[in-house]
Amino acid sequence: MSIFLEPEKPHAVCLPFPAQGHINPMLKLAILLHHRGFYITFVNTEYNHRRLQKSGAAGSNSPDFHFETIPDGLPQADSDTTQHIPSLCLSLKENGLAPFRQLLVKLNSSTEGIPPVTCIVSDAILSFAVVAADEIGVPCVCFRTTNACCFLCNKYLRKLIEKGIIPLKDSSYLTNGCLDTTVDCIPSLNNIRLRDFPAVIRTTDINDPMLNFSMEETERVSKASAIIFNTFDALEAEVLNALSPLCPPVYFIGPLHLLVNRLQENSLKFMGGNLWKEELGCIEWLNSKKPNSVVYVNFGSVTVLTPQQLIEFAWGLANSRKNFFWIIRSDTVVGDSANLPSEFVEETKDRGLIARWCPQEQVLSHPSIGVFLTHSGWNSTIESMCSGVPMMCWPFFADQFVNCRFACTEWGVGMEIDNNVNRVEVEKIVREMIGGEKGKSLKNKAIDWKKKAKEATEIDGSSYLNFNNLVKNVLLAKK
Ligand code: UDP
Repeated sequence: MSIFLEPEKPHAVCLPFPAQGHINPMLKLAILLHHRGFYITFVNTEYNHRRLQKSGAAGSNSPDFHFETIPDGLPQADSDTTQHIPSLCLSLKENGLAPFRQLLVKLNSSTEGIPPVTCIVSDAILSFAVVAADEIGVPCVCFRTTNACCFLCNKYLRKLIEKGIIPLKDSSYLTNGCLDTTVDCIPSLNNIRLRDFPAVIRTTDINDPMLNFSMEETERVSKASAIIFNTFDALEAEVLNALSPLCPPVYFIGPLHLLVNRLQENSLKFMGGNLWKEELGCIEWLNSKKPNSVVYVNFGSVTVLTPQQLIEFAWGLANSRKNFFWIIRSDTVVGDSANLPSEFVEETKDRGLIARWCPQEQVLSHPSIGVFLTHSGWNSTIESMCSGVPMMCWPFFADQFVNCRFACTEWGVGMEIDNNVNRVEVEKIVREMIGGEKGKSLKNKAIDWKKKAKEATEIDGSSYLNFNNLVKNVLLAKK
């Protein structure tokens, strides 16, 4: 008698940084790997797991795709608010390795049919996973959820210190025009200004914890088996050339949401990773609006506005007299003052809709959307370009300044709004973007990028092939 034993599945442990803009793309990647026959363990923090359960987005319908948790090391929080990102970074750096190591031991000693862990895909700012992977002798791929230009900037932070450019001499540098100085020592990033760099450079302290965190995490990633980005070759070709000699193998495998949308037999598709509950009624409202007529306003999951900024955006939108769909999270405004004036609500009731969270990809691909007023988070930027929607960029922190710079000057799909936002400028740019000549040319450019992004994810497109190579050459390779 012969017994046929099915070969064990490869098992990828996916560890996102615990913020929305990191969970989303990691989940997409996990879905792609699952589709390629990987057993998936997706690791959330305990705090986020509770939030996902509340918003109905935790769990999966597949026995080969399961969720685990580790603590984030921060004091227990019980409200549904965005956690303080620097605290999360520093806490996980300090406290992440031990529970992650324990989790790997648990998975590898499971008697419940879980195959042994064969690879780790971790967020590139959780580099303790590289150490853990090394200990159990499996490859670790680091997923950098920013674009490649931002990572290249980080690679050069030490050089900027050597040159005496950072830390800034004193805080007046933040406002006296010094940030407009161009930095010419980074290959492929011509004319980049100090203000376009990731926000960690905006410090006067050489010991600034986040500046050091960024430099250390960037350096530790060089020990990974590969680095991957949610971008595509045509978008950042020159940066790829500049980055490749400085890093382990680099794979551009985006836009991930387009690759996932290509999967026809994807029974996991409905499984979301939203920390807030999506309000789906907006689609019906958008259906009632003319093509290219709506300003979609969403500042992502972390950006916080002052009450005054909220008011300036509100009156800028109202005075433009265009339709708008605006996402205001429960924690968008400092304190609990997300109060819009009753005159504004009354005046815009026929042309404005406000919600707390929405299915953004679906919204961006709705024909009624004419422009996206965004904080320039990387996911939002690439999702907008994939939908052929131009942007009004109001960067807030982290990598958003470099995304804004590239969107506005390199890729030709955006107009920047001054950090010190005022209603007159908002109104003017909205009118320009919907109906103006500049708006038309940015829209055409966005449509070009939409086509290129689609090509990259088609069979034989660059990202499709890069993903295949990543699986074959790294994730399924013996270490
Ligand atoms: N998002 C969403 N609905 C919302 C707001 C955001 O689905 O109402 C998603 C968005 O599609 C993107 C992510 O949340 O994938 C936000 O990531 P991004 O990098 O743009 O910004 P962050 O939140 O990290 O600042």
